[in-house]
Amino acid sequence: MDLIVVMKGTSLLGEVDAVVARVNELGLKPYISRGEFRTIVGAIGERTVQIQQQLEQLPGVDEVMVISQPYKLASREFHEADTVFDVKGVRIGGGHVNIIAGPCAIESSDVLFSVGEAVKRAGASILRGGAYKPRTSPYSFQGLGREGLELLKEAGDVLNMPTITEVVDPRDVPVVCEFADILQIGARNMQNYNLLLEVGKTGKPVFIKRGIAASINELLMSAEYVLSQGNHRVILCERGIRTFADEVRFTLDVSAIPVIQERSHLPVFIDPSHAAGKRDLVPSLALAGIAAGAQGAIVEVHSCPDRALCDGPQAVLPNNFVKLMQQIKEVAAIVGHRVTNGDPAQTAFDYSVFPA
Ligand code: PEP
Ligand code: MN
Repeated sequence: MDLIVVMKGTSLLGEVDAVVARVNELGLKPYISRGEFRTIVGAIGERTVQIQQQLEQLPGVDEVMVISQPYKLASREFHEADTVFDVKGVRIGGGHVNIIAGPCAIESSDVLFSVGEAVKRAGASILRGGAYKPRTSPYSFQGLGREGLELLKEAGDVLNMPTITEVVDPRDVPVVCEFADILQIGARNMQNYNLLLEVGKTGKPVFIKRGIAASINELLMSAEYVLSQGNHRVILCERGIRTFADEVRFTLDVSAIPVIQERSHLPVFIDPSHAAGKRDLVPSLALAGIAAGAQGAIVEVHSCPDRALCDGPQAVLPNNFVKLMQQIKEVAAIVGHRVTNGDPAQTAFDYSVFPA
């Protein structure tokens, strides 16, 4: 059972350092969360009543509590305020809504640049594109690999947009880190713990999609793997789960958004594209997610979906994406959120949770 040490509002920096040192000495792993009003030191590891009592007596300590959830660093108990972080000047989380858009797969320079330009102009703040595609069939297009990553980096640089791409194999983590800004963990790999540990070690932002049959707590445990490596830039994504409803590809669990936000401080995005499976349904699902408080969406867009090598039927046309962005802005405003426009303000990094 793990502990959190809540420091007094008036505690001094030296007192926090002393708690961290004592936690280390007791054989527990310390993590610090600095909130607006108080600092919390998480002490992860086996605890005893004596350890709890000893920590309680240290100067500047208000109380020592047992974290009741199986996830610790991902929980609101450990970090009360929403996590907000920065990726190349784009602020993610809290009241910021970011729309990630682009083709399912990186197919060619032409498609990537034309779609990228269109979504950037429409107000998307992050560019997506898969270079390693996890396909249900081994005979389907598997992605361009390194060549695709090179194209993605080029497009991100030219368009001044951070990029996101999926990594499916721990051996590919270094090359994906070299070319992309955000590492995507796909639904099929949500519980690939070796992969989660590898991406956790990189310090790059990680976007974790919920598995098609994973509970919310299992998703939060996956986030915990990344957070446990000292990497706090984690985004969670609801992308639809498997149910008996066969009219759609997957059933978007809209209720997951407020439930995760109640339990965790991490930003929550939705993926209306893979849930819908059909482009006509994408706007309704995207707007439902934003209305439910999601801090972003990842949307597949293609300039010529009938020629797409992957997920063409669910790709939105650039013109329809323009209209969707407008509606997203309006719906976000109703719930008190604001859509980040495509031009990253060059703000400083703002980490509010970091390992001691
Ligand atoms: C994707 O985003 O292209 C993708 C494969 O998504 P998921 O892992 O949710 O199926
Ligand atoms: Mn896809």
